[in-house]
Amino acid sequence: MKPTNYIGRFAPSPTGQLHFGSLLSAVASYADARHNSGRWLLRIDDIDPPRTMPEAMQQIPHTLKHFGFCWDDDIIWQSKHTEQYQRALQALNEARLLYLCSCSRSMLRSSAIYPRFCKPASTTSRNAHPAAIDVQHKLTVSDNQNAIRVIMDASVSFTDAIQGDRHYEAQKHFGDTVVVRRDELFSYALCCAVDDANGITHVVRGSDLLPTTAAQITIMKQLKLAVPNYAHIPVATNAQAQKLSKQTHAAPIDTMPTLPTLFKAWEFLGQVPFKTSTVESFWSQAIELWQLKRIPRCESICESL
Ligand code: GLU
Repeated sequence: MKPTNYIGRFAPSPTGQLHFGSLLSAVASYADARHNSGRWLLRIDDIDPPRTMPEAMQQIPHTLKHFGFCWDDDIIWQSKHTEQYQRALQALNEARLLYLCSCSRSMLRSSAIYPRFCKPASTTSRNAHPAAIDVQHKLTVSDNQNAIRVIMDASVSFTDAIQGDRHYEAQKHFGDTVVVRRDELFSYALCCAVDDANGITHVVRGSDLLPTTAAQITIMKQLKLAVPNYAHIPVATNAQAQKLSKQTHAAPIDTMPTLPTLFKAWEFLGQVPFKTSTVESFWSQAIELWQLKRIPRCESICESL
């Protein structure tokens, strides 16, 4: 095998068991990494204790092993990266890119993009930046009053290995993103941007995350970090055309037959059909046969994002 710099990852949140939609991201990211003689890391995004299901922390690695996945190194736990996230916040704060936001969910219900109700007025003039905020105070004093948002004004272009050239305008497509939530927890957008920029070279995940990718690239650039390559796979939907997710009660893959479920994922990803009778030989052939370019683009989903 050729030596390679490729480092991929699968990054489930332990908010429930893995479902078929998660399996698609796992299969695509794993096959792509191994086909390119790369490394594949398992990162558990356990930064949201109120939504964490403690059993999922053990169950996810167990299910992945059962489906034949082998990750490199120890499992990465986002909950151990608090210092990195604090440093990133500090850097954004020094660049005067943060502001406190006291808007409640109900105030924002009708706006897809944050309408900047709380953005300090001075920042609207060209050269004025908001004052630095007291990040430590927000992180240590539990007020449940304010979130911290990062100012996002730039447009972002990137070439997705599956979906092609993508272009997003910050204020049209994702808006000033929350980096610390009202409950003092770091947001997924911040943590994922910091961790993916820390050595991951290829991110393969669902196309529902495309606008999030644009926001995360913006954060990486604000922090002057390396931006990985992206490939967004189509998302699986249920009979009601809803994305499979914990919220739409997608069935856990643990309850499904292993090999047929892997083949179902393989077919969904548009790969060359083959036959085999064991999980082990499924993976040896799948890694050999994998072709990222065969993954169908998801015109309708991507256009609506
Ligand atoms: N933890 C996120 C999720 O499960 C991460 C997705 C990703 O960035 O791959 O939705």
